[in-house]
Amino acid sequence: MDYDAFFGERLNALKARGDYRIFAELERRAGDFPSALLHEDGAADDVTVWCSNDYLGMGQNPDVIAEMVRAVQAHGAGAGGTRNISGTNRLHVQLEQELASLHQKEAALIFTSGYVANMTVLSTLARNIPGCIVYSDAKNHNSMIEGIRHSRSDKRVWKHNDPADLERLIREDDPDAPKLVAFESVYSMDGDIAPISEILDICERYNAISYLDEVHAVGMYGDTGAGVAERDGVMDRVDILQGTLAKAFGVIGGYIAASANLVDFIRSFGNGFIFTTALPPGIAAAARKSISIVRQSPDMRVRHQERAAAVKASLRAAGLPVMPSETHIVPVLVGNPVACRRASDLLMERHRIYVQPINYPTVDRGTERLRITPTPFHDDAAIRRLTEALLDIWGVLDLKRAA
Ligand SMILES: *Cc1c(COP(=O)(O)O)cnc(C)c1O
Repeated sequence: MDYDAFFGERLNALKARGDYRIFAELERRAGDFPSALLHEDGAADDVTVWCSNDYLGMGQNPDVIAEMVRAVQAHGAGAGGTRNISGTNRLHVQLEQELASLHQKEAALIFTSGYVANMTVLSTLARNIPGCIVYSDAKNHNSMIEGIRHSRSDKRVWKHNDPADLERLIREDDPDAPKLVAFESVYSMDGDIAPISEILDICERYNAISYLDEVHAVGMYGDTGAGVAERDGVMDRVDILQGTLAKAFGVIGGYIAASANLVDFIRSFGNGFIFTTALPPGIAAAARKSISIVRQSPDMRVRHQERAAAVKASLRAAGLPVMPSETHIVPVLVGNPVACRRASDLLMERHRIYVQPINYPTVDRGTERLRITPTPFHDDAAIRRLTEALLDIWGVLDLKRAA
């Protein structure tokens, strides 16, 4: 087999469909967010970033940066081993305590990313609990799907955000079979929110473990930024809360918070936790600092929501097809992969605005979109420029407007 030709052909097919991914090479400059330098064809130019998951700008928060620098100087660049073999630093333990406290759970466990957390925890639980059946929301993130698949347990996919469909599927199964229900709070591409309380009612009725991915909610919802489950007053009813340190908290890493026994079980049996080097202590210190700031900053959450509402209002007033999001995520429908890529390119070329196109397989075909993520650092002038730029591109490409 000519391997290289095979790779080339597959890539060409992606390009022909318009689904080929092109990365924007950015140079983030601490203190300038959401502005950054874009490197392209040997030149560099200022752009405004409108698609970052650094939702609260904590990745450039001066206190977080200072804490990271201090910890690196005090403790070095790396952790020095897996958690079991010399890699557990005091800063990891403190971070886990902070996370358990944030979610009001007995314990927490950190992973190298949110992806690894989902993959490891779901596969470890579903594989080790005998006869476990996993019920997965149809729009769950790839990391959950892969974790469930890796467990080789029975899996049922329930209609997105539809507790009645979940209950229908559960009732078809053996009442005595162990069950695990996996879902998200904020779905990151549509910006809708799960009916968490109703789903928990079902978990409780049928004795199923509840697993909630709050990756796009931690830091941003609830009085202390613990997520939508906190906002809805149901955090104590969720068995396993999963989150990331990389989005609103602005650093890197993932985690779960749960009962002491469950956390100890994953610590003891989770391969993706055991067989990998611990996060650098400087990362743990910065993440903990970021969490402690965000917990105490409801004003940041208010401003974040206010900015998102302002963007939605401005785009809607201009007749642009904003999809019905209930959250800080602002998806604008294009509905075609080639046009979506082109819209993103033209935004950059003509307006120095960066919004990455979101195409298949991240979203369904025909729902390709520009996913805009306002932050507290996008001011009114930036929103006006964004609105005018999108209107210009919608005109140039003759894209569909709001119905
Ligand atoms: C980004 C994301 C993850 C993975 O988190 P990372 O920390 O970036 O690895 C998990 N779940 C959802 C829903 C996500 O969007």
